[in-house]
Parts: sequence; structure tokens; C-alpha cells
Amino acid sequence: MAGVAVLGTGIMGAPMARNLLTAGLRVTVWNRTKDKARALEADGAVVAGSPAEAVEGADVVITMLSDAEAVHAAMTSAAPGLREGQVWAQMSTVGVAGAERLAALADEHGPTFVDAPVQGTKQPAEQGTLIILAAGPQQARDTLAPVFGALGQRTLWLDEDGASGAGSRLKMATVSYGISLTAVVAESLALARGLGLDPDLVRQVITGGPMDSAYFQLKSRAILEGDFAPSFTVHNAEKDTGLIVRAGQSAEVQLDVVAATRERLRRAESQGHGDEDMSATWFASFD
Ligand code: NAP
Repeated sequence: MAGVAVLGTGIMGAPMARNLLTAGLRVTVWNRTKDKARALEADGAVVAGSPAEAVEGADVVITMLSDAEAVHAAMTSAAPGLREGQVWAQMSTVGVAGAERLAALADEHGPTFVDAPVQGTKQPAEQGTLIILAAGPQQARDTLAPVFGALGQRTLWLDEDGASGAGSRLKMATVSYGISLTAVVAESLALARGLGLDPDLVRQVITGGPMDSAYFQLKSRAILEGDFAPSFTVHNAEKDTGLIVRAGQSAEVQLDVVAATRERLRRAESQGHGDEDMSATWFASFD
């Protein structure tokens, strides 16, 4: 029975840890705000008081924290418990430069670095149906097989070298689609309302036609019902748009839509919606 340390038990990390426990793995959790980690005790997780205590003796370390800065800080603090032979699956969204920086940190402290961000939000995390976009060597893949099997429906292995950041590069392209799509849905509904119409009419026209999608249904329903409980927060989506814009700049690819989406997210955050779901970009259409 492999031992897994999960650093970060937020919206994504908590259900991921639960799925590992359900799969029969030994799980130790650490979270900056300890109460969130304690909620997993009832599921059988051991709660660690520090990142170093969490990773001590673990075969696999998973990081699922907000950004590269938080991951770097947690893994630096974990260093006394890290060793060669451990596999570090870095699953947070940290961007291309972030993945490179964290791979270098792994080199310093011993564990094998696997770049493994995920596609899918709170519900797929709960259902164990995430898509894992991964880069790392074969030996680490074998160790991770039961872990990724519990977390996701599919793992796309993209490169033998975790430091290539291939997972994080693909993540930039796919998360760009999801975040911009949400902003477009919100804007269409907002425009209908502004033009004196019931925004639900937009949903009625699109439903069942060629422009319909599960994602459109999910986000339009959230907006129409005023349910902004977070699956993916405005704050983290704004963080991702910054990473995407930088990725585009370094690749010399002109990205216009995501830059505009970033402005909407920033506006929503300054209106006080940072902790709500990114569908709250709806509010950015109004004063
Ligand atoms: P979340 O609920 O906001 O959780 C963020 C986690 O990071 C919490 O554990 C938080 O600790 C911790 N954290 C933040 N700053 C920290 C710091 N300076 N030091 C230590 N810990 C810190 O976010 P999430 O939705 O679970 O997302 C986690 C990661 O997965 C992010 O990179 C996100 O972009 C990515 N992701 C999210 C989704 C999604 O749909 N939600 C999908 C795919 C990928 P506290 O509890 O103490 O605040």
C-alpha cells in the first residue's frame, strides 16, 4: 500500500485525497489552514503539522496548492522529509516557467519531478474523473499508476522529462479555453439582460443546437440561478489568465480573448467576487 502525501486540501486537493483513501492508499494531508485538512480525518487521512512531517516516508508527494509561489514555499519547507526515490506529482496549475522552477527545486532535494496538472473542476475531482496532463519518466509512471488511477479517468503522458513542462504547456492551452468560454457565456447573458430581455432566452436558443455544450449548460445555469458557489474561483482563474498571457508572449502567439477575459476577472475580483466561481465574471458586465 503506497503512502501518499497531499499538500493542499482546497477545492481540488480535498476530494482528490478522499479518492486516494477510497482506493486504499495511505494518505497524509497538510494544509496551511489546518481545519480544512482535519475535515479529512474522518475519511482516514493522517493530518500532518508541517509539510516536512507530511512527506516523511511518503512514496508519492502531491502538491495541489494555488500557485507556483505557494508550491515552492511548501516544498522548500518539506525539504527535510524529501529523499531520492520519492515521486513528486506537481498537480497545481503553475504555468510553464513555474513548472521549470519547481523541477529545479526537485533536483535540489531528491524526488523525481512529474509535471502533472489536471483538466477538470470540483465535480470531476470528486468523481475521480480528472484528465491528468503529465510528463515524467517511466519509473515514476509505474509508481503513480494506482495514484493517478484513483484521481483521473485518463492520463496523457506527454514527455519522459518532467522538467520539460509538457503537461503545464498543454494545461495553458486547455484552461485558456475553459476560462474564456465561461467569460463568453457570462457576457452573452449579460448583454441580453442589458438589452431588456430575460437572459434565460439565450439559454433557450442555444440549448439543443450546434452551439450547445455541457459546459454552456453548467455555467449558464449557475449564472441564471445566481449560484456562484466555487468550483474554480475567480481568483485562481485570474491567476491562470496571467500565466496564459505570459505563455503566449514567450511563444510569440498573439492572445486577445484571454487578455480581455483577464480584465473581466480582475473587475469581478475588485467587486468582491474573488472567492466565487469564475462564472461570477457575469458581474463584471455591470457597475
Ligand atoms: P483553492 O480551493 O483556492 O485551494 C488553494 C490551496 O492553496 C489551499 O490549500 C490554500 O491553503 C493553499 N495556499 C494558497 N496560498 C498558499 C500559501 N502561500 N502557502 C501555503 N498554502 C497556500 O484552489 P483549488 O481550486 O483547489 O486549486 C488548486 C490548484 O489547482 C490551483 O493551482 C488551481 O489553479 C488548480 N486547478 C483548479 C481547478 C478547479 O476547477 N478548482 C481545476 C484544475 C486545476 P488555505 O486553505 O490555507 O487557503
